Amino acid sequence: MLSTIALLSVRFCCMKNSFKYYAEKLAAFADVSRDGYAILTADDRLLCANRAFMDVFFVEESKLIGQYFSDIMRNAFHTSKGPRIDADNIDAWLNRVQQLRRSRDFRLFEVDLVDGRWFLFSEQTMPDGEMLLQTKDITKQKIMEQHLNEHARRLTDLALTDELTQIANRRSFVASVQSEITRCSRQLCAMAFFLLDIDHFKTINDTYGHQAGDAVLRQLAALVKRTLREYDIFGRIGGEEFGVFLSQTNRETAEEVAERLRQLIAHEAFFIDGRELNITLSIGIALARDKTSFEQLYADADAALYQAKHSGRNKVIVAEYCIIL
Ligand code: GH3
Ligand code: MG
Ligand code: MG
Repeated sequence: MLSTIALLSVRFCCMKNSFKYYAEKLAAFADVSRDGYAILTADDRLLCANRAFMDVFFVEESKLIGQYFSDIMRNAFHTSKGPRIDADNIDAWLNRVQQLRRSRDFRLFEVDLVDGRWFLFSEQTMPDGEMLLQTKDITKQKIMEQHLNEHARRLTDLALTDELTQIANRRSFVASVQSEITRCSRQLCAMAFFLLDIDHFKTINDTYGHQAGDAVLRQLAALVKRTLREYDIFGRIGGEEFGVFLSQTNRETAEEVAERLRQLIAHEAFFIDGRELNITLSIGIALARDKTSFEQLYADADAALYQAKHSGRNKVIVAEYCIIL
């Protein structure tokens, strides 16, 4: 019996010793760790924190320990040090944050600091309300992520932009028009589609050279773009052919806009190597008020453009079947 008690007490003593040993080890590692650790009491005071954690908040241990979470955040807000708090009113911000905190037993979120660093925070809450906060510096990963996003954005821009004129290319133009057609069809609103084609463009290339032709295309695209409203859709369909889509536009307005574009180009002086040259546009218009498709609008506008070309060029013609619209 005695020996059993002795054995138990020895075991207990070992457990106590090993527990103390491991706790000390953990504390030593936490002290030098680059990850931040802090424990908050159930009433939200900072019980303890390691150096890395205090570094995130730019406060010394003596000033941080024992403080309420809300006061730590208020201090960060007023001194503009530590976590970036994008708010005009710190109390409203704290209200929002407090609704999230302890709403789940484990939360993971990213926090950016005023000095530009990024941290991954985790909150582990115990049933009694005590919370372990961990922070991990993810600045390098965030910078890489930002570069990748920027790269992806540039690639998307490249895929959607016509290299020569820097307006929408055929692919993105068609996609934008198709989604507008769907919206307009649902709302039964009038739509107008223009096909713009430069008259005798081959002659410009033949007379002044291909580069001069390119310069004309660039100048024309910039001019038309400036003239249209921001939400009108404009793109280069191919070669010297451009498309314009106007939603909520009836026949009268469509003809006015197309005529304005025609006159604008006809009166504009295009300068190539110091020489002034004039160009003209032919425009075919298709109109729709109900369900239609890009292909249908394109075919109708193309037929009207054909008429414009064969009746003397430098003209705006509305597709025949649209006359009643
Ligand atoms: P029309 O009045 O009947 O439209 O006569 P056109 O000479 O404009 O005839 P067409 O539309 O058939 O000719 C288009 C020309 O546009 C042919 C092609 O060499 C030229 N072109 C197409 N893409 C480009 C380009 O990116 N740059 C230049 N400089 N020329 C191009
Ligand atoms: Mg042409
Ligand atoms: Mg053409």
